[in-house]
Amino acid sequence: MSNKESYHAIDVPFEYRHTCWFCGEPYYDSYAFMPSPNYDGQEQPLLIPSCEECFGFCRQTRVSGIDLLRDKVKDALHKKYQKHLQIGVNWTKEELEDCEFEGKALEGFRESAWAMFEIAKGRVNYAGWPLTIDGQPVSALSQAFHVEFDGIIYTSLQRAVEQLAKAYAIPQPYLEAVIEVVGRQRLAYAIRFAKTTYGYSADEREASIASLKALVAEEQALAIQVAVPAKGIQASLDELEPLILHRTQIPVHAIQWILERGITNLAQLAECEDDCFDHFGKDSELVAYTYFTAMQVYLEQRDVDPEWAENVDPNRRWFEQLG
Ligand SMILES: [Zn+2]
Repeated sequence: MSNKESYHAIDVPFEYRHTCWFCGEPYYDSYAFMPSPNYDGQEQPLLIPSCEECFGFCRQTRVSGIDLLRDKVKDALHKKYQKHLQIGVNWTKEELEDCEFEGKALEGFRESAWAMFEIAKGRVNYAGWPLTIDGQPVSALSQAFHVEFDGIIYTSLQRAVEQLAKAYAIPQPYLEAVIEVVGRQRLAYAIRFAKTTYGYSADEREASIASLKALVAEEQALAIQVAVPAKGIQASLDELEPLILHRTQIPVHAIQWILERGITNLAQLAECEDDCFDHFGKDSELVAYTYFTAMQVYLEQRDVDPEWAENVDPNRRWFEQLG
């Protein structure tokens, strides 16, 4: 028996040997993580494979859990590579290739810029592999607060707003005010709105916010009208396809549940929220929460990308039946 071990090394799948768990860069050393404050009374440090840079970030961080540590490392990467990440905001790959830079320095920029953007994006988005020790899960890692915008993942709405306000040169308080009105699910809309309206006087901005509020209220009134679900259908679990969207697992149980209730949009799902928690909460609150989130992600994907819903969604034939 090896109770004398003073560290717990996490399992590293073969294909991830020599890889940083935080960002996917080459391995440098394992960071020995101890929670601080140590709420769960963890006794031994957890060894997490890191690259040199993430190792350095970890050493400056004291947090109570591994998911918080991961988020702090990601925030540090976002901050350090902000300029690189903004390349993707300011340019598309094709624009960069087509544009004619004059002079050696700018030509160099053109050649390396997109690569720098892709590397930085890959690192902040890198999801690591599931943390286990001898096959046993270490703990559930929460991504509940993560926000994705334009293909880049942020650790929280707050971080996303800070970075995006800078990237798009929108005053942060104004962007925050707009998001508060339209909701966090509609970041792209909020940014577009804020970008086109902030340049005016304070009075005009206030008027913009007021008209936005009226617009959203109108939309909500319309949404209530469509909130009456169609007649549900029964699909057996083996006829349904699980899928992964935006790094979220969509389990067949969740898909079966929405089909049974004839739910095809987020407004209908919202109406059935309590029902969902009653149904899946029998297993555990966490399961219910996970399933509900999965359904939201699924229905939102179908909503924002109708072409995907019609042609790609592996369960499209069921939704077609709902009409
Ligand atoms: Zn790293």
